[in-house]
Amino acid sequence: MGSLRQSPLARLAQRGLGIGPRIVALFVLVFGLMGGLGLLLMQSKLLPAFDAIEKHFAQDSAKRVASGFDEQLAALSILNHDWAFSDELYSHMQQRSKAFEDSNLSDATMLTSHLNAVLLVDRQGQLVGIGRRPQSDNSLLQPDDVLPALQRRLARLPRHSRPTECGLIQVGKILSAVCWTPIVHSDGHGAVSGLVVMVQELDDSALAVIAQNASTAFSIEPHAEEPNNPDAVELAWELPKFKYFSNRQVHASYEPQNITLHYLLRDLEDKPLSTVHMNLARNLALEAQRILQEVAWQLAALALVTGLVLLLALHHWLVRPIRQLQAELANMTASRRWDRVLTAKRPDEIGALTQGVNALLQVLHSQVDALKTLSSTDALTGIANRRQFDERLAYEIVRLARRPAPLSLLLLDVDHFKRYNDLYGHPMGDVALQKIGLLLKDLCRQQDLPARIGGEEFALLLPETDAEGAIALAHKCMLALAALALPHDSSPTDRYLTLSIGIATCAAGQRADANALREQADEALYAAKDLGRNRACHRDQISHPAS
Ligand code: GH3
Ligand code: MG
Ligand code: MG
Repeated sequence: MGSLRQSPLARLAQRGLGIGPRIVALFVLVFGLMGGLGLLLMQSKLLPAFDAIEKHFAQDSAKRVASGFDEQLAALSILNHDWAFSDELYSHMQQRSKAFEDSNLSDATMLTSHLNAVLLVDRQGQLVGIGRRPQSDNSLLQPDDVLPALQRRLARLPRHSRPTECGLIQVGKILSAVCWTPIVHSDGHGAVSGLVVMVQELDDSALAVIAQNASTAFSIEPHAEEPNNPDAVELAWELPKFKYFSNRQVHASYEPQNITLHYLLRDLEDKPLSTVHMNLARNLALEAQRILQEVAWQLAALALVTGLVLLLALHHWLVRPIRQLQAELANMTASRRWDRVLTAKRPDEIGALTQGVNALLQVLHSQVDALKTLSSTDALTGIANRRQFDERLAYEIVRLARRPAPLSLLLLDVDHFKRYNDLYGHPMGDVALQKIGLLLKDLCRQQDLPARIGGEEFALLLPETDAEGAIALAHKCMLALAALALPHDSSPTDRYLTLSIGIATCAAGQRADANALREQADEALYAAKDLGRNRACHRDQISHPAS
C-alpha cells in the first residue's frame, strides 16, 4: 500500500503557522480585544445616555399631553368665568327670565359655544336652569351626573366669590371637562347669587387637538389594573403642577422596544376615570443598538481587511524574501558551491542579513579553498601531493578522449636516499627533497604538474608532450640536480645526489588509460634502477646516464 498524501492542513499542523499568519493572528486577536473592549465601553456610556434622553423625552411627551388637557380646561374656564361675571346672568339669578333662558340656554347657544351643558344652581344648591345639547352618543346630560359630586365638593355654595374651578367627569363612557364659578356682579362685589356650571365633552376632535399640539399620539382607555409585565422596568414620576389638570402621577413601563406611559384621570371626587395611554417607540435605544451592531460589523470587516493587507505586506516584505533566501541557501548547500553569493539586494534588514550571509559565504569559500589547497599540496615541498596528482591524471585522461594529444608521465625516484638520510640525517634529507621539489617546479611549464607522490618519489605529468619532449625534460631534471651538486658520499652511484626516471607516453590518438600509463612509467623506472640508476628510461628506449 502506498503512503497517503498529507493534506495541507495536516502539513500545517506538523509545520505550525508561518511567521506571517502568526503575526496576523496576533493582530486580529489584539484588534478583536480592543474592538470588543471599545464596544463594551461605548455600550456602557452610550446606552445609559440614550436611556436618559429617552426618559427625558417620554416625560416631556407626558407633560405636553397633560398640558393639552390643562389647556382644554383653561379654555372652558375662561368662558365659565365670563358667564359668572355677567350682569345679565346675575340679574337672571335674582329674578328668572324666560328671555334669558331662551337666548342663553338654547341648543343653538350650546352648539355655537361647543358646550354640552350649562347648569345654573342657586345658593341652596338647587338646579334653577339648564341648557343641554345631545352628547356624542345622543344622550342628554342629566343634572345628577354632575351636581351630587359638585355639591359634595362644595358642601355649601360659597358666600364670597371664588376663582373658577375645573375638573374631569365621566358620563357613561363620555369624558368631559367641567368648570364652575360662583355668580357675582360684574364688578366682583355683592353676594354670590349661585353657581354656573359648564360641561364640555372631550370628544375625538378635542383629543386630536391635544395630541396634535403635544405631537404625541395617545389613547383613552377604560381604567383597569395594569397587568405586570415581568420584562418591563416600571417607573413612576410626578408631572409639574398645572392650573386645572390635577392628575400628576405618570407610570412608565420600559420594554425593550417601547416605553408605555399611562396616567389615571380622576374625577372631581378623585375617583378613577379612564387612563391616558401613550406608546412611544424606543427609537433611540433601537438606534443605539443598531449603531453598536453596525460598528461591530465595521470593526470586524476592518480587522479582516487590515489583516489581509497585513498578510500581503508581510508576505511581500518578509515571508517571500526569507523563502527566497532559504531556497538559495538550500541550493548552495545541495550543490556545495560556496563561491556563489545570495542575490537579494534590499535596503532593509533582510538586505543586511543577506549581506551578512554573503560575507559568511566568502569566509567559508576562502576556508574551503585553503582546505582544498592544503589537502592537495605536499606539506614538505609545497608542490602537488599524491591526491592532486591522481585527480589531475584522471582529468587529463578524460580530456584526451575529447581532444587527442600526447600525454607523458615521468616518475622520479631519488637514488640511495636511505643512505643519504643515514649519513646526513633526516632533516638534511628533507632539505634535499625540498630542493628537488623546487627544481622540478622551476622546470615545468604552466600546464605541467610536478608532484611528490611518495617519500622520495616525484612525478611530472606533462600534457601535450610526446616521448621526445618527455625524455628531454627528464634529462633537464637530472642535469639540474647535478648542477645543484648535493654531496652524497655514501652513494655507490655518484658523489652527488642523483635521480632515476621512468617515462611513459600516451601518443596522440592512442587509447589512454591512467593505470596502464603509470605501470609503464613504473616499469621504466625499475629499468633505470636496474641499469645502474642516475638515468632516465622510456618504456621503449633507455637513455644514457648524465655525465
Ligand atoms: P633506491 O636507490 O633503490 O631508491 O634506494 P633508496 O634508499 O632511495 O630507497 P628505499 O626505498 O630503500 O629508501 C627510501 C628512503 O627514503 C627511506 C626513507 O628514510 C627515505 N625517506 C622517505 N621519505 C622521506 C622524507 O620525507 N624525508 C626524509 N628525510 N627521508 C625520507
Ligand atoms: Mg623509492
Ligand atoms: Mg630511492
